[in-house]
Amino acid sequence: MLTPNLTINAAGHLCIGGADTVALAKTHGTPLYVMDENMIRENCRGFERVISEEYGGRGLICFASKALSCKELYRIVDSEGLGADVVSGGELYTALKAGMPAEKIVMHGNSKPNAELQMAVTHGVGRIVCDNLPELDRLNRIAEASGKTVNIMLRIKPGIDAHTHDFVKTGQIDSKFGFALETGEALAAVKAASLYPNLNLVGLHCHIGSQILETEPFAEAARVMLGLMNDIRTEIGVTLPELNLGGGPGIRYTEEDDPKPFSEIVRAILNAVKETCAALSFPEPFVLFEPGRSIVGGAGLTLYTVMARKQIPDIRTYVLVDGGMCDNPRYALYHSRYEAVIANKAGEPRSERVTIGGKCCESGDLVGEDMPLQPAAEDDILAVLATGAYNYSMASNYNRNPRAELVMVRDGAARTVVKRETYEDIVRNDI
Ligand SMILES: *Cc1c(COP(=O)(O)O)cnc(C)c1O
Repeated sequence: MLTPNLTINAAGHLCIGGADTVALAKTHGTPLYVMDENMIRENCRGFERVISEEYGGRGLICFASKALSCKELYRIVDSEGLGADVVSGGELYTALKAGMPAEKIVMHGNSKPNAELQMAVTHGVGRIVCDNLPELDRLNRIAEASGKTVNIMLRIKPGIDAHTHDFVKTGQIDSKFGFALETGEALAAVKAASLYPNLNLVGLHCHIGSQILETEPFAEAARVMLGLMNDIRTEIGVTLPELNLGGGPGIRYTEEDDPKPFSEIVRAILNAVKETCAALSFPEPFVLFEPGRSIVGGAGLTLYTVMARKQIPDIRTYVLVDGGMCDNPRYALYHSRYEAVIANKAGEPRSERVTIGGKCCESGDLVGEDMPLQPAAEDDILAVLATGAYNYSMASNYNRNPRAELVMVRDGAARTVVKRETYEDIVRNDI
């Protein structure tokens, strides 16, 4: 199986975290997101362990909300000692509502509206990562009017090619995010930031991309960022105490994927930090990481009911399900690949190759193409694996489909943590 928390029971049904997925589909309906709480907690602890072993615990792991934002998830990661990174007022609101302490929250965004900056200042968010010069000016005015000084970091483009999908690559100079290093823009931004009386520049941030399978791009980013921090010390006389290295460790989506475990990635980064600091005689900074996918991605799956099977002779076989791009737009957006299993036939060989089609009115609404699968029939339960990240969080009401329910499984027992939307929810704001 793709992840160790997936098993097959005596009835031949797929189980996640000890819970029978066929029974879950029957009780809760489909489409249904299912998350394994123990695996989420183990992943949180895995990150914490490396920081503690390699770096004396001088760091903060902030779960990247955009991978999956709902109240229960904040409660879980908070109870494991993690903070959260948020990128909108909505994510911030959800985190605060769940009781996440504001000082453990990092606020992101390349285009933050004043209302969102105000919200972050009012609630005392621990760090605001500023993206551009106009934002520095606006934030300083908001902080001043609120009688506060706010901790900020600057988002830097370190120019690392992380060998990932073009659509999710952000470390390059041609990116809408942050200040470029090569052009001197970053150094100028540090100078500008340090002149604002209500902004307290605590460090730099970078995020080189997502679903990165190797350690080296991360280690290189750490070296480049520390080099910049050293230049800042030399040229401006400011020694920044914090370095935020973003998220990005990849996960196993298909049997062929062989990502470096996140523990190895974080260890490599911390080693690069220690070595570079020693070489530059630079004080080792407090580090922050913002993993999203690597905490929740492998811990989730999505269940659908097979509505029909459509065989087009000599072309392909479609297996049509009761969800699709409205609950998982990633194939439509990036042609992302997944593994799928017929949950009620999980013990049988996946002897067919099929295209899984969704229910939305788009030819491109597919879960995947050329996917190995057990012979599927009407009313079978289809499980699509490793959908814990960027699925529920990217879900939409396209075609006015209600967003699916999300259940959390712990030691075999499931509880609803996000209710299924109703038709009434869908028309709530219609006049
Ligand atoms: C997307 C993003 C993350 C999380 O990325 P993952 O690949 O899910 O770990 C963290 N920080 C920032 C700034 C991001 O944009």
